[in-house]
Amino acid sequence: MAIKRLLIANRGEIALRIHRAAREMGIETVAVHSTADADAMHVRLADHAVCIGPPAAKDSYLNVAAIISAAEITQADAIHPGYGFLSENARFAEIVEAHGLAWVGPKPEHIRTMGDKVEAKRTAGALGLPLVPGSDGAIEDFAEARALAETIGYPVIIKAASGGGGRGMKVVNSAEELESQMGQARSEAKAAFGDATVYMEKYLGNPRHIEFQIFGDGKGAAVHLGERDCSLQRRHQKVLEEAPSPVITPAERDRMGGIVAKAMADMAYRGAGTIEFLWENGEFYFIEMNTRLQVEHPVTEAITGVDLVREQIRIADGQDLAFTQDQIEFKGHAIECRINAEDPWNFTPSPGQVTGYHAAGGLNVRVDSGLYTGYRIPPYYDSMIGKLIVSGRSRNGAIMRLKRALEEMVIDGVKTSIPLHQALLEDPEFQSGDYTIKWLEEWLAKRA
Ligand code: ADP
Repeated sequence: MAIKRLLIANRGEIALRIHRAAREMGIETVAVHSTADADAMHVRLADHAVCIGPPAAKDSYLNVAAIISAAEITQADAIHPGYGFLSENARFAEIVEAHGLAWVGPKPEHIRTMGDKVEAKRTAGALGLPLVPGSDGAIEDFAEARALAETIGYPVIIKAASGGGGRGMKVVNSAEELESQMGQARSEAKAAFGDATVYMEKYLGNPRHIEFQIFGDGKGAAVHLGERDCSLQRRHQKVLEEAPSPVITPAERDRMGGIVAKAMADMAYRGAGTIEFLWENGEFYFIEMNTRLQVEHPVTEAITGVDLVREQIRIADGQDLAFTQDQIEFKGHAIECRINAEDPWNFTPSPGQVTGYHAAGGLNVRVDSGLYTGYRIPPYYDSMIGKLIVSGRSRNGAIMRLKRALEEMVIDGVKTSIPLHQALLEDPEFQSGDYTIKWLEEWLAKRA
């Protein structure tokens, strides 16, 4: 292992997650943090810590010069970006590599291609992945858009090429709405992402969100680690994820997994990635690829026994994949609850001091969180303060274990989303596994 000292360019639970993998590999860690995060758990645990700026992310966690300087001062030899912040910034990846540091992520050109959703769709199509029917690339002209929408059939969705986080999307129900909705999508995309490019897709009525975890060695070998079902969403944000999906059969997993692994091998993809699909009536439709570790990666770890962060670091070190496809076995069922510091029913953020904290434990229970008694949750960042992941032999066993683990969790002093998860687990439709991407919002509306 050439990597001896790893700089973690992130915060919160994922910074701690990366620290843990590195320490288990005998690698030293460097935490970089804003002034608001000086007391964070991963900063306390890291071998070295450098303050990189004031609370605002643009001045700290997105401050490329400060992060590179911290790497030079501490003599780090690699950078792991986590998720969010700079993780999908191709320019940052190039700068890291230009400084002679190992980038724990995909090749910069692959980050760039997949970051432009029009390019990503074109690439995915060329690699043989099934696409949502829609425009062949960007769409500008209204007449062209109208003709295309007639062919695909309404409703259609206009999406921003540079979009992310569920923003910059407009559903169009009829020809009358097309011009105004397309205009709005363009101006919103311009304002949010500095790029007015949009494209058109058929709007699927009631799909599930199913994504495949993949891994490549950058030299033409690639494997898949099965799927995750992330259909439980609020405002296109995932709330609870599970693996495997309740609706995918082993034969279907092998077939689709084989297609995505081959696509990644063909592009000589390096490191961890996620290929996201909508799934309706037994068909998969590619929507996008994320060129980074995902929040929900632990459910895959729970059913495969593979440490995905360790594998990312090994690949960044230039090593081969630690396993072949045949060696990957899927065992049992895992579920993750995202725990946010917010009101469980109206979702207003609830930062502040944690006056009491106790993490659930026991067999097959995992808590990824930087919380401790006395910790102050800063108001400047994402409200997710931790994740509870459980696994069991069966889906039903995992649900029973999750209920038990949620009962044990104590987070005093702030409001959290734990009561929402508890109510969700009692719902017979959730228990049956019969839900789509629209289900959670309808369930919330019924309760209100
Ligand atoms: P983002 O990068 O902003 O997350 P995605 O393309 O991944 O955008 O889409 C986010 C979510 O939007 C999906 O999980 C799904 O809920 C919804 N969505 C996207 N495209 C479609 C479509 N063609 N039909 C129906 N829903 C869609």
